[in-house]
Amino acid sequence: MSKKYSQYFNTRQIPQNQPIPGRDMVPNSAGGYTFAVDDWIRLDRFLILGSEASSYYASAQKLTIQNAEAVVRCIEENGVRVVKRITEISQAGRAPKNDPALFVLALCSKFGDLATKHAAFDAFGQIVRIGTHLFKFNEEVKAFRGRGRWLRRVNTAWYNTMPPDKLAYQAIKYQQREGWSHRDVLRLTKPVPPDTKHQAIYRWITKGELIDNAPKILEGTDKIRHLTTEKREAAQLIQEYKLPREVVPTELLNYPEVWEALLVDMPMTAMIRNLATMTRVGLIKPLSDAARLIQDRITNQKALTRARIHPIAVLSALKTYAQGRGERGKHQWQPVQSIVEALDDAFYLAFKNVEPTNKRWILAVDVSGSMDWAMISSVPGLTPRVAAGAMAMITAKTEQQHVITAFSGQMRQVNLSAKKRLDDVLKTFEQIPMGRTDCALPMIWALKERSKADVFVIYTDNETWCGNIHPIQALENYRREMGINAKLIVVGMISNQFTIADPNDAGTLDVVGFDTATPALMADFVSQ
Ligand code: CA
Repeated sequence: MSKKYSQYFNTRQIPQNQPIPGRDMVPNSAGGYTFAVDDWIRLDRFLILGSEASSYYASAQKLTIQNAEAVVRCIEENGVRVVKRITEISQAGRAPKNDPALFVLALCSKFGDLATKHAAFDAFGQIVRIGTHLFKFNEEVKAFRGRGRWLRRVNTAWYNTMPPDKLAYQAIKYQQREGWSHRDVLRLTKPVPPDTKHQAIYRWITKGELIDNAPKILEGTDKIRHLTTEKREAAQLIQEYKLPREVVPTELLNYPEVWEALLVDMPMTAMIRNLATMTRVGLIKPLSDAARLIQDRITNQKALTRARIHPIAVLSALKTYAQGRGERGKHQWQPVQSIVEALDDAFYLAFKNVEPTNKRWILAVDVSGSMDWAMISSVPGLTPRVAAGAMAMITAKTEQQHVITAFSGQMRQVNLSAKKRLDDVLKTFEQIPMGRTDCALPMIWALKERSKADVFVIYTDNETWCGNIHPIQALENYRREMGINAKLIVVGMISNQFTIADPNDAGTLDVVGFDTATPALMADFVSQ
């Protein structure tokens, strides 16, 4: 048989180390070619995933610079839209951390036009909600804008417009973070107090003096400060003044009586963070009232939403709590089963509700080496591949027709029941051997198996390189040969610019891993 030219130029099958002719592709960091997401999707990836940790291919510094450049391009194109986007994501608690939002807000205050700066001013209190945020923002702006009038006005508004009781609580709960204190900000800002209550709070913060009209909680804070081992007195003060843990002297935090008093008005975030401590000191025990109360509260979806509890925070707490010892191995405790199960429920409840689509889903997690590198949201041991496993469980729990798979240089089915607890899911994904990266495998595999799928969901950093066909071409082959117009959803797990989804293919969608809105966005797209 004579040779065919198409043997050398078959546009339906191009190896991943070459671009597909006629399509707009860019080289990724792994030596493969992918598509590039636009700057607005990149903004979303940055807001949700951040870039505080280095990825396998790029340092945190390099990723942050690239992200900041993309953000600045968005601000130049439409700064008001950027402010709106930050507000949406921050307000709804869609990101594991608020830090990227604060950084982008700071960029808007520097690079935005007048309308953008006004929008940033107006949205400030919705994004900068607590003392820690305010300190972080003041720290971030130092890098590229002086302490000008805009900053002074926005800081002033933050203090002056906050209701006194709320402000007093902020003053005691977040006294110092990020190398900043309220005293520092107030001294630089010098706000003129709008009323006597604010005046008393500013006096207490800057001079440590308790004057008339000061909210009562400041008096309670001064009183408890001097206690060391008087646990009953401390418990009384905590209840009388509704004091948070932050003002309780460390020695007192070893007594169950003190934690019991704190538990009454404990904010949800503090509750989830302190489960191990409350177990260790003996407050949380099997069948105890405390265990029951906590179980009820952390599985209350309304309360989770109101407190903006992010599923990553729940997953992190679950992972640590269930192992019965701290990450540094200092403390140990006996995990209480009902609490572990409540956390497992809370993870799913913390995502936006999703109705089943009743479509056929192939869920494919990239378990290659590069997905085992960075940490998600600084949680020890929570790498993108492990986190992606947890993410796949949300769809597995909602949709009856699904198969969970993992791929690197080869494809494997993961035998996981949707009823499996998350700490076991994480362990399962930790144990899958790693390998090279070929994001086309899920589609190739499904075609070979004649497996009928309406949608492929691929959880990946998009650093695919080793296959002899591009993922989008494998999808096109699948559609053609199976006669199913299957969709592709790419769940981006690193805030880079790459995607295996062709932006010109309406049957593909880019979403961001660990956006709490992601399961709902996926279901909407698949139902269309
Ligand atoms: Ca990889």
